[in-house]
Amino acid sequence: MYAGMTATRPAADRSAASNRRIDLRSDTVTQPTAAMREAMARAEVGDDVYGEDPSIIALEAKVAAMMGKEAALYVSSGTQSNLLGVLSHCQRGEEYLIGDVYHVYKSEALGTSVLGGVASYPLKTDATGGLDPAQVHAGVKPDDPHSPITRLLCLENTVSGRVQAPERIAALAAAAREHGLNVHLDGARLMNACVKLGKTAQELAAPFDTVSLCLSKGLGAPVGSVLSGPADVIKRARRLRKMVGGGMRQAGILAAAGLHALEHHVERLAEDHANARRLAEGLAGFERISVDLDAVETNMLFVQPHPDDFDALRAHMAARGIVLAGQKPRIRVVTHLDVTAEDVDRVLEAVADFYKGK
Ligand SMILES: *Cc1c(COP(=O)(O)O)cnc(C)c1O
Repeated sequence: MYAGMTATRPAADRSAASNRRIDLRSDTVTQPTAAMREAMARAEVGDDVYGEDPSIIALEAKVAAMMGKEAALYVSSGTQSNLLGVLSHCQRGEEYLIGDVYHVYKSEALGTSVLGGVASYPLKTDATGGLDPAQVHAGVKPDDPHSPITRLLCLENTVSGRVQAPERIAALAAAAREHGLNVHLDGARLMNACVKLGKTAQELAAPFDTVSLCLSKGLGAPVGSVLSGPADVIKRARRLRKMVGGGMRQAGILAAAGLHALEHHVERLAEDHANARRLAEGLAGFERISVDLDAVETNMLFVQPHPDDFDALRAHMAARGIVLAGQKPRIRVVTHLDVTAEDVDRVLEAVADFYKGK
């Protein structure tokens, strides 16, 4: 089923050495595979600011087609992709509605406000990361000189590993359209949602004007994101990209890694999901660890050890080459290209070792 993975990943790459480091902090920590590095070395390149890099042109065309959009733009990061997306829709003095736990609101240094003079208006998300159409209706400001002009709804999928139901997304987008808003998706991990639901990117992207996709998360590229959308919006985003210093030259060497990832690393995300599920079920078996199993839908789980064990458990794991995030009280655990099924066993054995005799 995941022939692409075994074909592109030589055994030496995924050595089962018992001391190999297992980094569970994020899916951004992956190393480019040997096959990906080869694709990068072979990449044809040109000056992309002149629009002459064939690898970037190919990547942008591929993602535009995948998402069912007119055009796409290769950028350095998901943060830049979202920034350009929002600022291509909103002018200074305008605002966008957004879930209060979403990355654009919480984790992008308020770039849209700082650099664009655009305000974000947070809506309270529920436990699954979702919003309701009523919140959109209530959030849109009246046409009144006292108010900001509400221009955009910004959603996210997946949210902390949770897949947003397509019907719910459709209802939110429809609510936004009633008020003439555009709709942007931070689809950093959209391909995880696609694999989980058995739907195409085009299906999940359809309700949105613009979509940001990260190549450097579960897809395993070292760098890069792609913003896709209508040609006129992407044209504005291209100008903004230049403005923020994001115009790169022979960056096809990086885009080649993204193309390789889209060709070889999408289907295999199912393996990350299976590993996350098995890890969650294994960890839930320990009396002093709690895991919300219902929340494990893709490649992420949240693990809450007894507070008295937290630091000692992390240190115990670190001594065995297993790196865990340190944010209390819940540890976010993420599976990815560099975490194998055997690694899951190693993690569970190390935890069992910690609790032995306790
Ligand atoms: C990682 C991430 C981003 C930003 O990507 P960077 O490449 O780290 O800037 C945006 N949104 C979500 C949901 C993410 O997980």
